[in-house]
Amino acid sequence: MSFRGLRASRDKKQAKSFVTDQTPPSVVHDNPPDSITPTPSEKPGFRYDLPASMEMRVVPGKGRAVFSITLLHCRPRVLVLSVPNISRYCSYCCAELVTKRCSACRTVWYCDLACQKWDWTLHKSECDCLGRVRNLSSDQENPSIPPDAVRCLARISFAKVKYGLHSDQAKELDSFHSLKGALSQSAQTSHTQLAHALVQYLGVEAPTDLEQYGIRSAGDLVDLISRFSTNTHTLTTPNLTQIGLAVSPVLSLFNHSCEPNAVLVFPGSPRGEKGSPSMQLVCIRDINPGDEVSMDSTSPAGVIVVSYVDTTLPCDQRRTQLKDTYGFDCTCTLCQRSENPTYVDPRASIYCPARCGGMSFFPTPERPYVECTACKKRAPTEVEAVQDALRIGQEALDKVTALQDSDPAYASKIATNIISLLTSAGVANGSHPLLGLLRSQHYLLTISLSSSADAITGTTLTASVKEEHQKLLDDAIRTAARVLQGLVEVLPMGHPIRAIHLSELGLLCATDETASNVPALSLPANEKVFPPTGAARLQLAINYLVEARKELLIAFGAGTEGGDVGKKVRETLIQLEAEMGIWKEGVKTAWKEQVLDRPQR
Ligand SMILES: [Zn+2]
Ligand SMILES: [Zn+2]
Ligand SMILES: [Zn+2]
Ligand SMILES: [Zn+2]
Repeated sequence: MSFRGLRASRDKKQAKSFVTDQTPPSVVHDNPPDSITPTPSEKPGFRYDLPASMEMRVVPGKGRAVFSITLLHCRPRVLVLSVPNISRYCSYCCAELVTKRCSACRTVWYCDLACQKWDWTLHKSECDCLGRVRNLSSDQENPSIPPDAVRCLARISFAKVKYGLHSDQAKELDSFHSLKGALSQSAQTSHTQLAHALVQYLGVEAPTDLEQYGIRSAGDLVDLISRFSTNTHTLTTPNLTQIGLAVSPVLSLFNHSCEPNAVLVFPGSPRGEKGSPSMQLVCIRDINPGDEVSMDSTSPAGVIVVSYVDTTLPCDQRRTQLKDTYGFDCTCTLCQRSENPTYVDPRASIYCPARCGGMSFFPTPERPYVECTACKKRAPTEVEAVQDALRIGQEALDKVTALQDSDPAYASKIATNIISLLTSAGVANGSHPLLGLLRSQHYLLTISLSSSADAITGTTLTASVKEEHQKLLDDAIRTAARVLQGLVEVLPMGHPIRAIHLSELGLLCATDETASNVPALSLPANEKVFPPTGAARLQLAINYLVEARKELLIAFGAGTEGGDVGKKVRETLIQLEAEMGIWKEGVKTAWKEQVLDRPQR
């Protein structure tokens, strides 16, 4: 549907959410690979990526904001992979299969020659910098590559030179909101380090060398870094793995709310099209376009807001992060609600001791009791035990996060112990830090599961190896199911994190049943055992995947079929349903052979 058509239909009928609309209108404002030079017909300013149906206004005290209900696609202007991902993903299209390394700098990788050619416009200057890094390194085979933040700043500078310093695109990159003057002490320190690293990376010898990038003073440099740190997005794969940084002027216009009605995702390449990855703004809650737009609240109806921070975190942690990085005190609807002492935030709550399904706030010395939201029962509780568990939990989460890649076995041990401590204190699965620990544990189990799977392929399996692998798989499913419960408590339906997790859980459940095409004639699962086995497990996998598909279509847009993960889930579902048929048929035949066709005595 065209925007005119959309507007007309909106005027005619009661507005409804796009979430339920099977074919949401969307606009693709892709920059074709070499669109670095604008076509003369394009209007100057931000408007390159902004569709006609979006309107930009100035909100008092907040600067610019975009008002609209339309989904938006665009391609990042600049993207950079983080150091561990440089050799894993294509530096242009972010595909995971890389075959070609730049022979000059021997650092960046591409999936093919086409991507390498497209990337050359920005990589050309970068290649010199990376080559210099390698030459100056004491270990030329393994030079220490500067972090993504430094390389991203350099790419922004190269892009500005490429566009022309006075071009509209360069101005667009310069028009990002800068926090200069309002920076916290810690931000000032990290900005100074970043400035030094950038100057070194660019190989600048005299301050005048920076003028080619439009940097004429130390103040300009601080400005560039300040703008950059508040206006970059995390670059993710279609399954939300964080792989680097992306810059998009148009997608930086959206204001923040801890209860966002839209999310930014990278669903994957649109219909197999090549190019830099598509970034998409998707509405995940009703935006109520018919409502009057009010200007004085953070997320009034009709305004698109995204979250700059992880919304599974409790209010105090979100506010600290927002203040430190973005320099503002969040007054969004959720933060306002969280200030109310009677509000029970699922991010900071304890299950009802009577196990009625309700929840209570965390007890404090001022309120040394729990009070259930559902059964309304109030019961005294050991405040110290809960507070200790939460404090130890936070320390454990910090430790696990720091160690999960370098020492996964130790990290897993800590996670297991502290998860059971928090669980016995009654902390809800969606609450911080339990949810964080459960997610880390799920990540760790998935890693050991894939190495266990690698170890058993090709070898003759002994019963004990097989049993060990099965145990690990069941553990992973149980943890994933708890994570799901936690995510459901804190995130709305169709949130990308929830949608991706559901798909992972479904695929995990499908894992071992798909491994053998011959159905084992095991007894139907004991219903109390989770996860079940046999057909019940296959059915469970199907149920999760059906739900996952529904949520992926919201999270990544129906226009992309729920992104790359949505397509994969759809294929798996077709396969599983066929297998379910074989399974049922197999059981019937075996049953017939064993029971019905048994010779009568
Ligand atoms: Zn590529
Ligand atoms: Zn190179
Ligand atoms: Zn907030
Ligand atoms: Zn209760």
